[in-house]
Amino acid sequence: MRKTTAVIAALAVAVLAIIIAFDAFRSKPLESSFFSMNTLVTAEVEGGEAENCLAEIKSTLENLDYNILSRTAKGSAVYKLNQSGEALLDKQTAEYFSALADISRQSGGAFDFTLGAVSDLWDFGGTPSMPDEAELARALSHSGFEKISIGDSKISLNDKKAVIDFGASGKGIALDSIKACLEANETKRAVVSVGGSVLLYGEGEFAVGIRNPRGGSGSSIATLGITEGCVSTSGSYEQYFEQNGKRYHHIIDPETGYPVDNGLISVTVISESGLLSDALSTACFVLGIEEGSRLAEHYGAKVIFITEDNLIYTEDAVRDIITVTDKNYKFGG
Ligand code: ADP
Ligand code: MG
Repeated sequence: MRKTTAVIAALAVAVLAIIIAFDAFRSKPLESSFFSMNTLVTAEVEGGEAENCLAEIKSTLENLDYNILSRTAKGSAVYKLNQSGEALLDKQTAEYFSALADISRQSGGAFDFTLGAVSDLWDFGGTPSMPDEAELARALSHSGFEKISIGDSKISLNDKKAVIDFGASGKGIALDSIKACLEANETKRAVVSVGGSVLLYGEGEFAVGIRNPRGGSGSSIATLGITEGCVSTSGSYEQYFEQNGKRYHHIIDPETGYPVDNGLISVTVISESGLLSDALSTACFVLGIEEGSRLAEHYGAKVIFITEDNLIYTEDAVRDIITVTDKNYKFGG
């Protein structure tokens, strides 16, 4: 009897010690969610100056939007460029533009951040409707990455009617800025999502859900087990309208000006870089499985395609880290 009590006491101490050790190693994450850059941001940050870091994340995103990315804030580089045809750039912003121009080139124009006038006609962020064909053709004629010239400290539009739009890459750029905040504040581990792009930061493994293309924002069809990096998903379910039984969504084929119609429903890209994961998810959606896979490989990124008939296409190495949780979805080919 006494022996049993002693064993239980010893066990209790051991369990308590483990809990304390665990606590010392992994403090509880601080959480915050807020709207920024027209989307929901959620952040869980652990260790270091977590509280300060959360405040910095918020101000960093506000500055990024206000100074660089916003189409409507009068001081932003994108606004100035669209209004006057040129903008002075700091080194970091020039790098963003160069990186996006490189993706445009490498994707043969499938990724096109000069498509703003075309996107405006569809107005997916507002009241979407089918644009007039002639207007669409005109807007399209003013797009294309050859319409911009990027210098070290200045960018200019060769065609004053081209409209720059960071819609497909801004959230990823935000993740890269957030990573810098996490490093500066010596945090240990963090998960931060900006819209459909997520940053996983720190040691150990993270489980990331791939959203159910036919379900709400909380439901997923598979789980990815990955280490540090960024994961972005582009889906035809994000912003769309239906007309005569056909879905028109916000990812545009720059060759036609119309929404991509290639049998894909979602594309997820994993990369060390937020900018790459976000921009490539859009580019790979436009390119389709074969060419999209080649593009992702060029950038050392991993890509997962989901088709309208519920098939998942990815390379073998990625299959090993995916657990499909919805029996309606299966691996294809
Ligand atoms: P989300 O904004 O839902 O995360 P994406 O990252 O795929 O989705 O970006 C889609 C946005 O990118 C569109 O709303 C539009 O502003 C812009 N866009 C649409 N087609 C293209 C394209 N082919 N290349 C670059 N940007 C695009
Ligand atoms: Mg994108």
